[in-house]
Amino acid sequence: MFPASFGYFAARSLEEALELLTKHGEEAKLLAGGHSLIPAMKLRLASPRYLIDIGQVPGLSGVRVDGESLAIGALTVHADVASSEIVRQRLPGLAEAASVIGDAQVRNRGTIGGSAAHADPAADFPVILTALNASFILQSPSGKRTVGADNFFIDFYTTALKADEVLTEIRVPLPPSGAGTAYAKLGHPASGYIVVSAGVLVIRERSGRCASARVAVGGLGSGPFRAAATEAALKGQPLTPEVIVAAAAKAAEGSDPVDDLYASADYKRHMAVVYARRAIESGVRRAGG
Ligand SMILES: Cc1cc2nc3c(=O)[nH]c(=O)nc-3n(C[C@H](O)[C@H](O)[C@H](O)COP(=O)(O)OP(=O)(O)OC[C@H]3O[C@@H](n4cnc5c(N)ncnc54)[C@H](O)[C@@H]3O)c2cc1C
Repeated sequence: MFPASFGYFAARSLEEALELLTKHGEEAKLLAGGHSLIPAMKLRLASPRYLIDIGQVPGLSGVRVDGESLAIGALTVHADVASSEIVRQRLPGLAEAASVIGDAQVRNRGTIGGSAAHADPAADFPVILTALNASFILQSPSGKRTVGADNFFIDFYTTALKADEVLTEIRVPLPPSGAGTAYAKLGHPASGYIVVSAGVLVIRERSGRCASARVAVGGLGSGPFRAAATEAALKGQPLTPEVIVAAAAKAAEGSDPVDDLYASADYKRHMAVVYARRAIESGVRRAGG
């Protein structure tokens, strides 16, 4: 399996990458870790005329606290997200998701920005980043814009990114005290990609009631699915095992999964309930419940 021939540029700065993108437009593709794009090119599912390698562009990787958010550079590899002390302490659900992606090789090469931009419906980061209400910083030659997760992931392999934009950073709001985050995944045993997964952010009041919850489920459709019925069933309720089970039972409500080679639609709906419950239980425990 060989890709079609292509031209290759190694951008040395963000400005250079943006210039090249503007010049070559739809004929060009950015290359980050290459762990989704290169396999797609080998299968001839993608045949860009030019690759713009941003792998060595300075300033686009690393995790730092910036005010009330965690700022994660788009080129940060999955292993660095998984092992970051600040991520593990403040957003354990994000560390959990990063640590179950593929294998060690994939985690040391693949980038969080590449995963988000690729928007594979079976990918882990889109699910947890939706649950955590992350924002995506998109840079074009004419400036910067910020898009929230609910508007960033649009369809199968489709995001709000325009052809002349680079995703430079992902910002995740740091949860307040009394909040818990978690991620639970049923992975395909061969590829590691999700069959079904759930990401959760639960904010618990001192009284033990749920102030608010965001629950995203992967594997049910074209991208992360906000389990709105589950969120509504948790909000304002005491976070008891009975309430959690009843709320999780609604995790697939409003989704429209389809049968595929790995699982039937019914199995996915059932597993969505199981994995949403596990993630909510874990999030609630971390929230102090
Ligand atoms: C064997 C194997 C197993 C895997 N298992 C899993 C798994 O279990 N879970 C999972 O979630 N993923 C899995 N992956 C995918 C992996 O996580 C990829 O690394 C990731 O999806 C893409 O990141 P990348 O940096 O490699 O992006 P690339 O492959 O370089 O790029 C992917 C796409 O994003 C675009 N892009 C990249 N960076 C940017 C940017 N900064 N701005 C704008 N566009 C950009 C590219 O143009 C391209 O279209 C697996 C991959 C392999 C090969």
